[in-house]
Amino acid sequence: MMDFMATGKVLAGKGLALRCIDCGRAVRLDESEETCPSCGGNLSVEYDYAGLKRFVTRKRLAAISDPSIWRYLDLLPVEDRRLVPSPWVGGTPLYRAPKFERALGLARVYVKDDGRNPSASFKDRASAVVVARALQGGKKVVATASTGNAASSLACLAANLPLKTIIFVPKTAPAPKLAQLLVFGTTVITVDGTYDDAFDLCREACRRYGWYNRSTGVNPFTREGKKTCAFELCEQLSWEVPDNVFVSVGDGNIISGIWKGFTEFRTLGLINRLPKLVAVQAGTSDAVARALKGDGKIKPVAGKTIADSISVSLPRDGAAAVKAVRESGGFAVTVKDTEILAAMRDVARGAGVYAEPAAAAAYAGLAKAARGGLIKSRESAVVLISGNGLKDTASALKAAGKPHFISPDLKSLEKLIRREKLV
Ligand SMILES: *Cc1c(COP(=O)(O)O)cnc(C)c1O
Ligand SMILES: [Zn+2]
Repeated sequence: MMDFMATGKVLAGKGLALRCIDCGRAVRLDESEETCPSCGGNLSVEYDYAGLKRFVTRKRLAAISDPSIWRYLDLLPVEDRRLVPSPWVGGTPLYRAPKFERALGLARVYVKDDGRNPSASFKDRASAVVVARALQGGKKVVATASTGNAASSLACLAANLPLKTIIFVPKTAPAPKLAQLLVFGTTVITVDGTYDDAFDLCREACRRYGWYNRSTGVNPFTREGKKTCAFELCEQLSWEVPDNVFVSVGDGNIISGIWKGFTEFRTLGLINRLPKLVAVQAGTSDAVARALKGDGKIKPVAGKTIADSISVSLPRDGAAAVKAVRESGGFAVTVKDTEILAAMRDVARGAGVYAEPAAAAAYAGLAKAARGGLIKSRESAVVLISGNGLKDTASALKAAGKPHFISPDLKSLEKLIRREKLV
């Protein structure tokens, strides 16, 4: 059994409240748990930080043996630890990557392998919190639109719970992600359209049928789960905040969640500086990068890239992402699909981590930033690997080439070794 933290206060003690990211309006939980009733903007969850400061300390955290995201229960919108789903979420490894340091001329490079979550992507951090919220609110049906990972994550975490899940995915979702969904026993509805079409349909359906919507952007609690990655980075780096964190961006919920995590730890006095956040996008799905280079307003693009998890036309948490990157003093980098495929090889061979295209994109962004002088050689960088390569075998095969083919005899092997200089 996991041994949970001793301090977990009741919800009221956390002073939970919502605030609109766009207009700043305070929103009561009984008014809306989706978007702002005044302007439709996305909501952010706030806590009674002054109250929490007294008992969320480095020492208290060090004494908690549970390495999963629930070690931060005091900073999560979940009332009762009995609502926590059983699969183990978070507590993912952080590796130093000396090969990358040499290749890119950087002082310190770390790889955070979030592909090692129960459904093999970062999305589990969010789904775990949403599932606990759904149970807490007595919900029966949870729905989501997803490019694939949010869906397989929700299906995984709700699989053994009294919650029905309904998933809307675009027809472009890779087969391994669909297979995951079906194995976990969810209801999968493939929409003859894009992720954006699936998103809109899911939202309409949730309104019509009263389902709880996990979709990124409309659900303010996904960011709460995602912020735990920043908490882990602080602890894993012995409270030495990295100079840069490279995050691949589709909807912008991961990067804004990571920013929220770092700023909350600073508010609580656990750290005293903040990293620069670098948003990495595919050049062909770059709405957040465009907004960052322009007036900060998100305008839809015709998002299409091999990195399906970041193939997004209208980022659903784009405003929060732009705000996060700007506040952090960071920037955006865009990468080509060929660079993403090359990064799949680089991450596998340089760090021993199998990354799906959207995850490898973060490393492609770091390589580009380092070679372009956008970060300095004395700086440290964390690359977030947000999903496992097994989720998209077709792209991996594109990146990796073919095996050698010979007849099963030593002569043929010898010929091959000589011809290809294999050893
Ligand atoms: C969802 C996802 C992203 C992008 O996260 P956003 O919150 O949409 O920006 C990146 N990588 C992987 C593997 C993902 O599943
Ligand atoms: Zn508002």
